Amino acid sequence: MLARRVGSLSTSGAVAATMVGAVSATAGWPWAALLIGWFVASSVLTRIGSTLKAQRTRATLPAASARTGTQVWANGGVFAVCALAATLTERDAFRIAALGALAAAAADTWATEVGLLAGRAPRLILGGAAVEPGLSGGVTWPGSAGGVLGAVAVALAAIGLGLATSTSWLALAGAGVVGGVGDSLLGATVQAKRRCARCQRWTERATHDCGVATEHGRGWPWMTNDTVNLLATFIGAAAAILLSIP
Ligand SMILES: [Zn+2]
Repeated sequence: MLARRVGSLSTSGAVAATMVGAVSATAGWPWAALLIGWFVASSVLTRIGSTLKAQRTRATLPAASARTGTQVWANGGVFAVCALAATLTERDAFRIAALGALAAAAADTWATEVGLLAGRAPRLILGGAAVEPGLSGGVTWPGSAGGVLGAVAVALAAIGLGLATSTSWLALAGAGVVGGVGDSLLGATVQAKRRCARCQRWTERATHDCGVATEHGRGWPWMTNDTVNLLATFIGAAAAILLSIP
């Protein structure tokens, strides 16, 4: 309710966050604390320089608004389900998968927010062609550094909360980075992109900032940004399991 009051969550986002939070709290308070810490850090990062970032992505992204239920599930669903499964089954693989999923979500969020704030011209992760700020698949060095920091932050927080051993920090942070890179690769290849016929520019907006309705241009029409985020948390979860094999 507090997050909704300050505009970080929409009503559907608040309902979804309550469900994701309740599932995590059922798994145990350290899991809930990790989720809340991630959420607060991500929300604060989104707020910093939000006017500037909105200006930079005016042509490519829909006007920034409170996170919706779909966005909350796409980022936190794999984490919450794996955390609960870890507690119910006491299997290490689920615990590690949950942490990898959250590290991947942090890497993606931090990379986006730090990258947009730094304002360097992004290049496509595949091929290196220049792309407009905010367009999925575009990367910058400051953004990439932000993504690594986000993954490391989740790994260290998990260790601090007793959810992981101190020797596992590199595997967890690495899994987050792998998930973040996976997010950008999917964003550059199969994610749906739209095109404004008047301006001849790529965008993720249904209506371009010039006022013209955009049309589907490339990628799979059903592969939205939320679907890519969900897949990226799966990649982070799988990578954490693989990187944790001694
Ligand atoms: Zn246009």
